[in-house]
Amino acid sequence: MTTRKDAEEAVFTLLTYLDSQPNREGLKDTPRRVIDSWDEVFAGYKSDAESILQATFNAEGYDGIVLLSNIEFHSTCEHHLQPFSGKAHVAYIPVDRIVGISKLARIVDHHALRLQNQERITNDVANDLVQHLNPLGAAVIIQASHGCMRCRGVKKQNALMTTSAMRGVFFDKQEARNELMQLIENAS
Ligand SMILES: [Zn+2]
Repeated sequence: MTTRKDAEEAVFTLLTYLDSQPNREGLKDTPRRVIDSWDEVFAGYKSDAESILQATFNAEGYDGIVLLSNIEFHSTCEHHLQPFSGKAHVAYIPVDRIVGISKLARIVDHHALRLQNQERITNDVANDLVQHLNPLGAAVIIQASHGCMRCRGVKKQNALMTTSAMRGVFFDKQEARNELMQLIENAS
């Protein structure tokens, strides 16, 4: 098991790879600061989808689309450890139970705050909605800009990657998808 001390020492080793004076004032506490920041940036490893989505309420007959759009998020590309960030649109159609709306944002963070790729976040958020809310349909659309494309490699500053996961009625029915797209457009 890797301890916090091991992790800080590993960051120090990386600093020595880059800089001949890893003990200078500006770098002295960098290993500690890096691991502190990782605790925040990778907090998703400590949260739990079931406890996030368990607080549900009676839908009182509501059977339309519930959409939370423009949920900003930050994540980390697992291939390069570069940040990527953007916005997520998360929707579902309830059957009997609705969930507290902030939980849709929390479930995005639960997946984003890990070593990730955008496709997996998109799929996993949709799968969690299906598994824990048992809705008529669930949909996740994510648009993000990737640090590993902006700062290195092809160096494209404005390229935006879009991914989507459609489940249930959003997968089966064109009309449901059309209504969802219209709602997202109206909200932005
Ligand atoms: Zn990358």
